[in-house]
Amino acid sequence: MGKQGESNEVIIILRPDVDPSGPEIKQVLRQAEQYPGVEARVHEVRGETRSLVEVYLIGRTAGVPREVFEEMPGVERVVRVSQKYRIIGRHEGQVEAVGFTYNGVRFDQEASHVFAGLCAVDTKEHVEKMMRACQRAGLVTTRMGAYKPRTSPYDFQGLGKECLPYVFELAGKYGIRVIAMEITHEDHIDEIRSALRDAGNPTGVMLQIGTRNAQNFELLKVVGQQREFPVLYKRGMGITLEESLNACEYVASEGNRNIVFCLRGVKIHLGDPHRNLVDFAHVPVLKRLTRMPVCIDPSHSVGRRDRAPDGILDIFHVTAQGLIAGANMVLVDFHPAPEKALCDGPQALLLEELGTFLEDAAIVRQAYERRKALALAQAGK
Ligand code: PEP
Ligand code: MN
Repeated sequence: MGKQGESNEVIIILRPDVDPSGPEIKQVLRQAEQYPGVEARVHEVRGETRSLVEVYLIGRTAGVPREVFEEMPGVERVVRVSQKYRIIGRHEGQVEAVGFTYNGVRFDQEASHVFAGLCAVDTKEHVEKMMRACQRAGLVTTRMGAYKPRTSPYDFQGLGKECLPYVFELAGKYGIRVIAMEITHEDHIDEIRSALRDAGNPTGVMLQIGTRNAQNFELLKVVGQQREFPVLYKRGMGITLEESLNACEYVASEGNRNIVFCLRGVKIHLGDPHRNLVDFAHVPVLKRLTRMPVCIDPSHSVGRRDRAPDGILDIFHVTAQGLIAGANMVLVDFHPAPEKALCDGPQALLLEELGTFLEDAAIVRQAYERRKALALAQAGK
């Protein structure tokens, strides 16, 4: 990993047709070895239509001449970066947002997915009702909390690994391809991996890092060291966006770049009566600053089922605010019987509301596409 405080790293972007184990890369790495205190790391970035290979030069790069690399065969561009979050960063548009595909589902800055599901798994029956509703609505993505980081030790802590066998089996039965599931300890990754294997890998899991662990650097490093599962990183509720981005970089710097960044509101009483102050104005900011797809969580932002005089729930309103700004993923709590929910019942939407929720989201997404076309026309593209 790069040493703290040293900026001005160099990214060498190879041409898309370059073989990751071919002679061009070897030549770049040999050249990099000429500079003392400089370490080279090769990263492969898989895009939808093409793959990119990038070589990161980290360490004492101040004296490394850009031109030497620029003239090498196979090199497309050489970029000098100064932001601390050098792998997830866009560096003033110098690098593209490439995204990733996981279990057949595409995640990038153009994508649009709704992960509707249970905040916390409580019974098998509720999981089945939820997943059946997702399948009927045409969703292949859901959320299921097994490990819950609760504010009070006396509150329901989640069913943990005991619920995983039926959660995964039912996901397979109802065609769910990706489940967002929070983990709070590195052991949970092994528990998820082995439960998936025992169930015959019927589905996929996106490991969620909750806001309470946004700066749990050891956990971030561990999820970064594995490449099997993508990561849904939720911004810290009481730190700046910049601090959250630096924390998120821990995941990428350990090797896993399949990360979605999630906005979920920030903790401040100025957000009252909502549970948090909704921060979805940061959707375009994140797309500009980073290469990551952006998720919004309207449930944990708003925290209640209040309805505006226009008949629309606040949760629907803020979802629209995130989607009109180009959010790529919505993480949203539903429950078949919210009054029986063991966690966050007051913010759960009803299964009967799922169809309307998705229709409303589609209206807003279309409006966003039209806004984007308008901006492109204005720019003469
Ligand atoms: C959750 O998504 O279940 C959750 C606990 O959210 P957050 O970490 O944003 O509070
Ligand atoms: Mn919750």
